Amino acid sequence: MGKVIGIDLGTTNSLVAWMTPQGPQIVPDNEGRALLPSCVAFDEQGKPQVGRLARQGAVAGPERTFFSFKRFMGRGLTEFAGELGYMPYPIEGDERTVRFPAGSKEYSPVQLSAMVLATLKRRAERYLGEFILNEAVITVPAYFNDAQRQATKDAGEMAGLDVLRILNEPTAAALAYGLDQRKTGTIAVYDLGGGTFDVSVLRLEGGVFQVLATAGDNQLGGDNIDDLLTAALLSETPELIQDRNWLNQVRNLAEAAKKDLSTQETVRVILDLPTGPLDRTIRREDFETLITPLVERTLKPCTQALQDAGLTPGDIDEVVLVGGSTRIPLVKRRVAELFGRTPHDELNPDEVVALGAAVQADVLAGGTRDVLLLDVTPLSLGIETLGGVMARLIDRNSTIPCQARETFTTAVDGQTGIEVHVLQGERELAQDNRSLERFTLKGFPPMPAGLPKVEVTFLIDANGILNVTAHELRSGVETTVEVRPSYGVVDAQVEQMLEDAFIHGEEDLQQRQRIEAQVEADRRLPKAEELLVEMQSQVPEADLIPFSTALTELQTSYAGGNYKAINAALEALEAAAQPLVELRMNQSVQQALQNTKLDEVLAKVEQARREGL
Ligand code: ADP
Ligand code: MG
Repeated sequence: MGKVIGIDLGTTNSLVAWMTPQGPQIVPDNEGRALLPSCVAFDEQGKPQVGRLARQGAVAGPERTFFSFKRFMGRGLTEFAGELGYMPYPIEGDERTVRFPAGSKEYSPVQLSAMVLATLKRRAERYLGEFILNEAVITVPAYFNDAQRQATKDAGEMAGLDVLRILNEPTAAALAYGLDQRKTGTIAVYDLGGGTFDVSVLRLEGGVFQVLATAGDNQLGGDNIDDLLTAALLSETPELIQDRNWLNQVRNLAEAAKKDLSTQETVRVILDLPTGPLDRTIRREDFETLITPLVERTLKPCTQALQDAGLTPGDIDEVVLVGGSTRIPLVKRRVAELFGRTPHDELNPDEVVALGAAVQADVLAGGTRDVLLLDVTPLSLGIETLGGVMARLIDRNSTIPCQARETFTTAVDGQTGIEVHVLQGERELAQDNRSLERFTLKGFPPMPAGLPKVEVTFLIDANGILNVTAHELRSGVETTVEVRPSYGVVDAQVEQMLEDAFIHGEEDLQQRQRIEAQVEADRRLPKAEELLVEMQSQVPEADLIPFSTALTELQTSYAGGNYKAINAALEALEAAAQPLVELRMNQSVQQALQNTKLDEVLAKVEQARREGL
């Protein structure tokens, strides 16, 4: 039996932690260091080196030293148009991938992340001795979408880890502070790291965290502060900026000075530059003036996140500081001022996410901490719609509790009930997914097809129990059933289902599009045929030609089964029908008008008769 480890896979630095009887603890490397720079460099032989030496440029030149690859996880290169500033290493890719060429090979962000994870795994195994550690919790930013989370999980598996849970970084930070113990509350997590800034607003209810809002700036962090200080130090010898070697040295000094200024009032920077000796004393006060604009830039996303969550600073019960850059006193002060309360800074801000991951890991390993209800849905949930297609209401990996609602209608005139078929899985077609439940909402009055409004609500409560409610809005008829979605689906099955979805993705999608086109044609063809017959008696034949041609076109493509042709024909038919529909509408309006007139007249006649005229 092994321990479960918690890993913070950071943009700048990564860490691994585990649970001890004294609480969660960071696992240090051989030299006692906690942070592993998330940096991979490939030497002449193409051998990867991970961490500090790679970061310091000791392994290879900048074109083979990769960092900040977390930004690319689960994304395609084309998504970055314009957003990507200058990067010292080559990047290739397309809409779906990003690749880093190094020598004769290419690496994906997932592979590079896997190297970082494998290094942490080995570190933990060495430190903890007897165990083979293969189960882990890995954290990701709260805004990570499904693809980014999946990519992180893939990286873990590539590193030989069994990823038990992908956990949100802000939630991990809150766990590290034991905030789950307070059961309810609203928490703001301010995370200023090396290259990114994130703020999240969490709602804690009954021990369950829910992300209410996230905001941030993915181009703002400690690196920008280093840039500023470097520029200030080189302000009198700007020609040195061209020399990468000197620039690097000054940058390293600047970062060290910045860190010292978090605890000291002044620092002295000394370096023998080719242009003469550099010797500057920097006072904290001046440093603060320098970086004030950067710190101010973090406040707007905070306000934004509060606004998105529908809250004001006064609604926040706890503020948590995360990220190495929150060690800066000015940052702490400004955050305290904005939220009107002292933020938590008792733990090391660059360790708190990993510590929280260890807390979650311990819970999953069956540890002693009060059961913590913190979960995500392992597979998507939805219902079957026309043509056997699955309409997804809740996406896989959504944090629970969660709720989703969508409105459906009937396909046949006079229908007084609707069958709700609840499904779980990632495939496009209902038959390929797992059927969880079927029930019928019945007893609403007969109406023409398309008129009933059946609102289906999925609610997953904190225990992972799904409640499905179907509610016909016009009549008020409602039915609720309780479903247990993950019950009975073991991990291997989840994996199999995901794999199937992955393998069949393309063909599923085509099949879905074909079915959707056919369902639409099924619906429209009889109506169009009816319209044609009706109009034949009212419109000169020549005027009907465009419409009848379009109709024939649809009939032919429908028989052919090509969804693109069907969709094109549907569109053409719609355009050709427009004038006829308008004509019919005008006629029926007139008829209706005439009818009311008739009724009015009739009523008057009747009244007159009663009055005895
Ligand atoms: P990430 O979450 O992006 O991986 P970290 O949370 O490890 O990053 O933060 C790294 C950043 O924190 C770097 O820019 C580093 O210079 C900065 N940092 C670390 N310690 C201090 C300190 N004492 N004072 C100011 N900044 C610091
Ligand atoms: Mg971080």
